[in-house]
Amino acid sequence: MPNFFTPEHEAFRKSVRQWVERELSPHALEWDRAGIFPKEVFKQAGELGFLGINHDPKYGGSGLDYWYVTAFCEELVRSRNAGVNMALLVQSQMATPIINEIGTDEQKRLFLEPALKGEKIAALGVSEPSVGSDVANLKTTARRVGDDFVINGSKMWITNGTRADFITLAVRTGETGYGGVSLFTFPTDTKGFSVSKKLDKIGNLSSDTAILFFEDCKVPARFLLGEENEGFYHVMTNFQGERLTAAIIAAAGMERMIEDAVKYGNERSAFGRPLIKYQVWRHKFVEHLAHIEAARRLTYHAVELFEAKESPVKEISMAKLVTGDLAQKVAYDCQQFFGGMGYIEETDIARTWRDIRLITIGGGTSEIMKEIISKLVGF
Ligand SMILES: Cc1cc2nc3c(=O)[nH]c(=O)nc-3n(C[C@H](O)[C@H](O)[C@H](O)COP(=O)(O)OP(=O)(O)OC[C@H]3O[C@@H](n4cnc5c(N)ncnc54)[C@H](O)[C@@H]3O)c2cc1C
Repeated sequence: MPNFFTPEHEAFRKSVRQWVERELSPHALEWDRAGIFPKEVFKQAGELGFLGINHDPKYGGSGLDYWYVTAFCEELVRSRNAGVNMALLVQSQMATPIINEIGTDEQKRLFLEPALKGEKIAALGVSEPSVGSDVANLKTTARRVGDDFVINGSKMWITNGTRADFITLAVRTGETGYGGVSLFTFPTDTKGFSVSKKLDKIGNLSSDTAILFFEDCKVPARFLLGEENEGFYHVMTNFQGERLTAAIIAAAGMERMIEDAVKYGNERSAFGRPLIKYQVWRHKFVEHLAHIEAARRLTYHAVELFEAKESPVKEISMAKLVTGDLAQKVAYDCQQFFGGMGYIEETDIARTWRDIRLITIGGGTSEIMKEIISKLVGF
């Protein structure tokens, strides 16, 4: 396998791992139980340069290639807390890349720069109570009134939603369908904005996911992100990065699950033998390892094309589909291997089994991945 990671990537990986193992993983269970993690984590990640890995150095990013982002995601799974991972990735790889790409200098100074430092928390507001997969159909409106836009509507399932300082927000400014969608940088201290509800989820417990409400929220027209009515294209482009990070996280997460299971199987015995010595389990895990390796290669192939700016929509959709579906099977088997301990909150695999469900749902479901691939291959 070609080695995509240089010694510089590896040194960066090591620094991420040290931070994750020192600052995040010791609190994994505590933060899940609290249903939130300290804001300070954003600050720390920002100070270490982890929130602006591939962003413009002019606004505090490091301008590095996507293999650094890959290494970051792979090490992040060692936090053993999918909620923190999700929150940090929304901040760095979902809500800010569009601003980095198409924002004005003012938008970058006001929103991007403090987000990369971890001083402001960012959210991405696309999904709505009645619209998730079908983004072109979103209902929240922004109506032009003089030099402002007035926003009305609601957003649902918004990660970092209860404490975001701003939202990269998709709204309808024009006709129905994809031609009428625009993006805004939306400050949450705008009058008329409120958090309706923090959602009770079954996994990713430490990340706050919320329903947001917009009532006559007036934002200056200069906060329009990109051209009016061209937001749909940018949302779709942005999804590529989101889906790629999901695939990388899933592949790395599966390896971690197997690693933990094998360790447990060496320590725990039944009927006079360590569990791992039973052929049925060894074969199961080896089979998974082979599939994980294939899924990871597909993912790295997508990263390679993404890094070369080749817009690999098919490959990214395939990587998310394959890793997402495989992760469900791996989590199930690893949890089964832990027996009763796999059903206990303190055991990582129990929480991972719940958390990993999100990979086939968030950022575009497995069915939507299949729809995209089907269109691209022509049937
Ligand atoms: C924990 C969590 C965090 C999230 N964070 C964010 C966030 O930060 N920002 C944000 O904007 N959104 C966020 N989301 C929303 C997420 O992206 C959507 O839930 C997802 O895109 C699916 O949309 P939906 O829930 O409306 O499902 P629906 O679109 O209603 O789909 C329901 C079911 O129908 C299937 N389906 C839909 N269309 C088709 C079709 N054409 N063919 C076959 N089957 C189809 C779907 O695959 C799914 O199984 C988050 C969701 C969760 C659960």
